[in-house]
Amino acid sequence: MTTQPVMHRPGSEEELLALLARHGDDAKVVAGGTAFMILWKAGLLRPGHVASASRVPGLSSVHAAADGTAITIGALARLRDVERDPQVRRRLPVLAATLRVVANVRVRNVATMGGNMAEADPTSDPPAVLAALDAQVEVVRSSGVRRLPYREFVRDYFETALEADELVRRVVVPVLPGWTGSYVKFLSRSGEDRTCLGVAAFVATEDGGVLSGLRVAVTGAGPVPLRLPQVEEQVPGHAPGECIPDVAAAYAAAADPVSDVRGSAEYRRQVLPALVERAVRRAAAGFDDAVLA
Ligand SMILES: Cc1cc2nc3c(=O)[nH]c(=O)nc-3n(C[C@H](O)[C@H](O)[C@H](O)COP(=O)(O)OP(=O)(O)OC[C@H]3O[C@@H](n4cnc5c(N)ncnc54)[C@H](O)[C@@H]3O)c2cc1C
Repeated sequence: MTTQPVMHRPGSEEELLALLARHGDDAKVVAGGTAFMILWKAGLLRPGHVASASRVPGLSSVHAAADGTAITIGALARLRDVERDPQVRRRLPVLAATLRVVANVRVRNVATMGGNMAEADPTSDPPAVLAALDAQVEVVRSSGVRRLPYREFVRDYFETALEADELVRRVVVPVLPGWTGSYVKFLSRSGEDRTCLGVAAFVATEDGGVLSGLRVAVTGAGPVPLRLPQVEEQVPGHAPGECIPDVAAAYAAAADPVSDVRGSAEYRRQVLPALVERAVRRAAAGFDDAVLA
């Protein structure tokens, strides 16, 4: 017989953090519960204490910095609310569009940004955009707050830099003025599945169409979103047609995918260059969207 965990419903962030500090590895936060319940039912997670974050106030807001340079998204903001937020749609259209291709509307109505990040599934979609834009994650525990780059927050397959007594409080996503982007989600099975490979690309373009900046991040190609700053740095001064095939080849060469139900590692490596090319070309053409491939 499975022992039921002790359920807690803290009414404040302080109360929730005190619970995590008291019970350490034996406690788990639950936000939307969409990932947690699957792990629970499969017997992969058996904490003695479960702390629901649903009554904690102040963690679900979305707001733009006064100077427009970033959008801050609370950890408890539901994916559907972020996707529909007017500031996100205007200033981070690729993030809004990427959230629209996550799962289905029933899942997005309960799943949260913090839950998606803390789950650290290598085939989630938002991480590609967060990694490409160099988002910063704010993490809190009873004794203090720390902020770390998203690319340091996510460490390995289903593993983050979170300690047992820490909570994701919010994520700060920079807005890159004048840049345009695109996310390409490659599905090898049903339309509501997780991605086989997902590519987020952002470009800055000078007059005449020459690129002055590039960011590319890929999910499904390894334990954490794949970014290659040394490849991105080679691009300024080149026309998209000149450099995109080399960028795509470099990402394919660096990919370290696993084989799973969505495709073998070899299949992923074969498909990846075409997806990178497509994402960068759409970004350069100013689409600011997300598409299913
Ligand atoms: C049918 C289905 C289809 C899906 N398809 C996609 C898809 O196409 N693309 C995609 O990206 N994702 C997909 N997902 C995953 C979904 O996005 C995640 O399950 C969801 O975002 C997790 O959020 P949650 O609030 O439900 O997290 P929960 O299930 O509540 O928590 C998940 C994990 O994060 C921890 N956690 C939650 N919040 C915090 C916090 N603030 N601080 C610290 N730890 C925290 C929990 O302890 C738990 O370990 C799918 C899920 C389902 C069920």
